[in-house]
Amino acid sequence: MQVLRSFVSGRWIEGSGTAQTLLNPATEEPLASASSEGIDLAAALDHARNTGGPALRALGFSERGAILQGMADALQDARDELLGLGVANGGNTRSDAKFDIDGAIATLLAYAELGTALGAGRFLVDGEGVQLGRSPRFHGQHLAVPRHGVAVHINAFNFPAWGFAEKAAAALLAGMPVLSKPATATALVASRAMQVIADAKVAPEGALALLVGAPRDLPALLGSQDVLAFTGSGETGERIRALPNVIRHAVRVNVEADSLNAAVLGPGVEARSDMYELFLKDVLRDVTQKAGQKCTAIRRILVPQQLLAAVREDLVEMLGAIKVGDPADEATRMGPLASGAQLKDVVSGMERLEAEGKRLAGAPGRLGEKGFFVAPGLFEIENGKAVHEREVFGPVVSLLPYTDNPAAIVVRGNGGLVCSLYAEESAWLEQAVMALAPWHGRIFLGHPKIELSPGPGTVLPQLVHGGPGRAGGGEELGGRRALSFYLQRVALEGSRPVIAALAKGGT
Ligand code: NAP
Repeated sequence: MQVLRSFVSGRWIEGSGTAQTLLNPATEEPLASASSEGIDLAAALDHARNTGGPALRALGFSERGAILQGMADALQDARDELLGLGVANGGNTRSDAKFDIDGAIATLLAYAELGTALGAGRFLVDGEGVQLGRSPRFHGQHLAVPRHGVAVHINAFNFPAWGFAEKAAAALLAGMPVLSKPATATALVASRAMQVIADAKVAPEGALALLVGAPRDLPALLGSQDVLAFTGSGETGERIRALPNVIRHAVRVNVEADSLNAAVLGPGVEARSDMYELFLKDVLRDVTQKAGQKCTAIRRILVPQQLLAAVREDLVEMLGAIKVGDPADEATRMGPLASGAQLKDVVSGMERLEAEGKRLAGAPGRLGEKGFFVAPGLFEIENGKAVHEREVFGPVVSLLPYTDNPAAIVVRGNGGLVCSLYAEESAWLEQAVMALAPWHGRIFLGHPKIELSPGPGTVLPQLVHGGPGRAGGGEELGGRRALSFYLQRVALEGSRPVIAALAKGGT
């Protein structure tokens, strides 16, 4: 069995002690083991801060962009192997695995391009300068400069490649070194991805590190120049935010957590219209892609009372036709959940939903004897509580009828990553967007005329990803906006010519 190693302080190191076993979730066959015990985490962080940081800060944005281009090329060269690992260790169908690996490559390329556009500057000149007194000599200018710490990235199990790449792209482009910790259950892809990138020698020493196995006290070792970007459950996010060092040193923390994303079918939409069909297609994709283990997947479907029967009938038929099985089999449409822990969690989530509504599709409990399989589940809920408060991170969706004010129902989710609206009437859309915008990081406006629309579940590098409240209050990506988490804004106040000379090194 393969033993995964961590890449820290410029070396590949095997952990000691009791290792965790990584499985094939379709067969439960052990694939690899990982342990972080015995690894000197403080030394790993110092190596990144003291070796990787200065090397990156000496480069301009376009040179840092070239590092991202090199990382994307390395992943592209290893694409087939990485897809295979996603199928074996993630329970991904090949199409699910492409979503992760190709998403990682596309995100790195988007930020490589941004690096080229930002040019030779090493920091950002933030906005126009301002005259501060009666004389134009007294001047103010904001700059945003790379922090002198390390960016620690803790990722969730569902996107081992994309999760790594979307965070690393922003940090490296901003000029901060990265220590990435993938979720252990699916770490094979992240581990191999880091190996091919390290072998390609595209980044300066210390700019990239990987820790496999348990996080141990990693977040507790961070100080005031460090940042921590976390993706995972709200509970872990809360624990990290409450750490004494995080509070004492004001460690910058970004949390991407749970989300009960809603899709709303507008009241003016007719059954069988193009808009209606698009809505169904997006719902079906989100329930089944990656077995519903997507933070942006639709969890609640809001339909006008008069369309309830049609949507119910169509979704039951569509979900019933989904072939669940071995993700390595090309005929399979949906693979297993990623781990035994996930299976337990999803089964208990489905029980909660069934207790407050009616099961329309799916089956209680696990499918079969081996592997972490469940059937895609659909529940109809008129007056629920759990449906708005507890995310079921799997192929499960709830159908909620509304009469007049869907936004009031959506916001019971208390903040989400994305809400999707399917309607043509502009007055209705305007009202809905204004009511929902403060509660979401992104609003997807479905339209049948948009060719090749990826649907609400795809996070695009150009747009922000994150959301208020339950979603963690974080923000990632969004093009140039992604850099600000890794940069310190500073106001320079003084003589105009002096400040103009200082700002010359920026973009
Ligand atoms: P989790 O248990 O919170 O784990 C997430 C990551 O945190 C893993 O790398 C895990 O490492 C690590 N971790 C666990 N305990 C930790 C601690 N005390 N200190 C530091 N790190 C710790 O989450 P999960 O159940 O695997 O992931 C599913 C959840 O993630 C869902 O609730 C989903 O909504 C959320 N999610 C959100 C987004 C988003 O962008 N908003 C994206 C994907 C998933 P180990 O694996 O080694 O335990």
